[in-house]
Amino acid sequence: MKFNTALESIKTYEAGKPIELVVREYGIDKDQIVKLASNENPFGCSPKVKDAVRAIIDNMALYPDDSMVKLKSALSNKYGIQSNELIIGAGSDQVIEFAIHAKAHSGSKVLMNSVTFAMYEIYAKQVGAQIIRTASREHKMDEFYALYQEHKPSIIFLCTPNNPTGDGLLASELVSFIEKIDNDTLVIVDGAYMEYARFKDPSYAVEPGDLVKRFNNVLFLGTFSKAYGLGGMRVGYGIACAPIIEALYKVRPPFNITTLSLEAASVALEDELFVQECIADNFSQMERYKEFAHAKGITVIESYTNFVTLLLPEEKNSSKIAQELLKKGMIVRDLSSYGLNAIRVTIGTRVQNDRFFELTDSLV
Ligand SMILES: *Cc1c(COP(=O)(O)O)cnc(C)c1O
Repeated sequence: MKFNTALESIKTYEAGKPIELVVREYGIDKDQIVKLASNENPFGCSPKVKDAVRAIIDNMALYPDDSMVKLKSALSNKYGIQSNELIIGAGSDQVIEFAIHAKAHSGSKVLMNSVTFAMYEIYAKQVGAQIIRTASREHKMDEFYALYQEHKPSIIFLCTPNNPTGDGLLASELVSFIEKIDNDTLVIVDGAYMEYARFKDPSYAVEPGDLVKRFNNVLFLGTFSKAYGLGGMRVGYGIACAPIIEALYKVRPPFNITTLSLEAASVALEDELFVQECIADNFSQMERYKEFAHAKGITVIESYTNFVTLLLPEEKNSSKIAQELLKKGMIVRDLSSYGLNAIRVTIGTRVQNDRFFELTDSLV
């Protein structure tokens, strides 16, 4: 069968290996497996969220509230925005899909960092858009600006802090860049890890409310999958001026968020203390990774997220090391497909991190 030819250049997204797969492939006991591969919160979500979801478990027969009033008003309050400046997606992934389908088409250009979140390229290629990438591993605004002038892309992706490298962009630098971009170019600021950046250093924190008030060409993305510990519930959001949101709504399928997910995300916002405690623990555990790497002569990229990216010396092959770890039940992310001889490790609980150091010690 022939398919849309645009699909030919797309490589299927490689999600972090699920625990179930490692159980089957390596015959390791489920309890022995540690997954530090998808940047989930190792403490999960607030206990209040679990109670709230249990309390509505009998509501599964009816379609969800498609106006998403409860979650939208909680997010509007949090960010000081109007609810017509907000769209909810099944993960912020789905909002990326909406944005690309709404703005780009065959022949459009989409500009992004050399190393960044893989889904931008996949969605852009689905519509036949051309990918333009910067040269440096870090977001360099002068490189972005030069390519913007040369190519006049329809969409520019800025991922800060960036996945899979963990580094961040100063909010002031980001804003000065957007000021120079014309109104017809959609600038997507992916803030999947913004809660971590805000905690670590507020000068790296972008405030979506300020962005929408200032710019009519910016879409900010947030998610409940990382700091809020709700990866399994699939809830993310986009914040932009009303005309952008209106366009995104035209490509949104109805009932894209389940009743349980809407409730979980709404209640998660009521327990910010839980999230802040998890983030504090994240950065204190991250120090141990820095010490480990330092002792081993491995470079760690300064991280504003819940993961660390370890750049390995040439003689230590990242794919092999990730594979060796997998055999022992430790799932991390090999970054060789991103052109880096590096592994990305999600910061786990103290016990999970101990296990990582123990298993990795003899390999690097
Ligand atoms: C995890 C992640 C997302 C989206 O996650 P969802 O689970 O779809 O909300 C988006 N962007 C980046 C950079 C991420 O790391």
